[in-house]
Amino acid sequence: MKLLRYGPVGQEKPGLLDRDGKIRDLSGAVRDIAGEVLAPASLDRLRRLDPASLPLLPGTPRLGPCVGSVSKIVAIGLNYRLHAQEAGAAIPSEPIFFMKATSSICGPNDDVVIPKNSQKTDYEVELGIVIGSLARHVAKSDARKHVAGYCVVNDVSEREFQIERGGQWTKGKSADTFCPTGPWLVTADEIPDPGKLALWTEVNGERRQNSNTADLIFGVDEIVSYVSQFMTLLPGDVIPTGTPSGVGMGFKPPKFLKPGDRMRLSVEGLGEQNQSLVAYRG
Ligand code: ZN
Repeated sequence: MKLLRYGPVGQEKPGLLDRDGKIRDLSGAVRDIAGEVLAPASLDRLRRLDPASLPLLPGTPRLGPCVGSVSKIVAIGLNYRLHAQEAGAAIPSEPIFFMKATSSICGPNDDVVIPKNSQKTDYEVELGIVIGSLARHVAKSDARKHVAGYCVVNDVSEREFQIERGGQWTKGKSADTFCPTGPWLVTADEIPDPGKLALWTEVNGERRQNSNTADLIFGVDEIVSYVSQFMTLLPGDVIPTGTPSGVGMGFKPPKFLKPGDRMRLSVEGLGEQNQSLVAYRG
């Protein structure tokens, strides 16, 4: 099942992508794709609906982030060996994570704004985990029960803010529009092995990142279990699982993003994102 949110910013409605790739209105069934709607029993109920019985949406509306009311974004860092190498960092012995402001969340095809005073805006394609039920001190073997599904996340990053301005990566990860999320949430039953998905990024048609989640250092079960030892994960929380090599800062000289650039990113089976970079306008 592919769940999505469509409509103007802040007024998104729930929808479902049917087998023909058409959007069906889910607002008669649920208020939003968020919180308790992501619980296993609720997803089962939606799965029993006949998509053909749901109103078909005319045209191609804007897609919002595929999850609403996200309480937190906990992103995993340096989770692919080659990316740790290009970042000049050691391979972590246990997962590194950082918070990304929820105000950075935007739709999968919305413009990405280069922050004020930014010289080093960069892209990061990632497999995103969406939590379906409360997870606290969860064992690795139970982790998957708490996963509603997966989505593409672009963990947009400002490398100077992240690395050269002292402390905490959060600084370089949290600007508005720095977290395009979607196009859809693909429920976990459709992705039996999230550790075997191709993922890639193109900038202006040039393939920059090209990898597979098989190269993740810490996989989905381990990540959910690990994070849940330190904080309670709530339904709708999003965990971007780390990016592979090929980010702009890894090139010599680096290839940072500028206004007018176009990004295209995808994780196998989870759809595609398309963003234009625009300058900050205060
Ligand atoms: Zn990242």
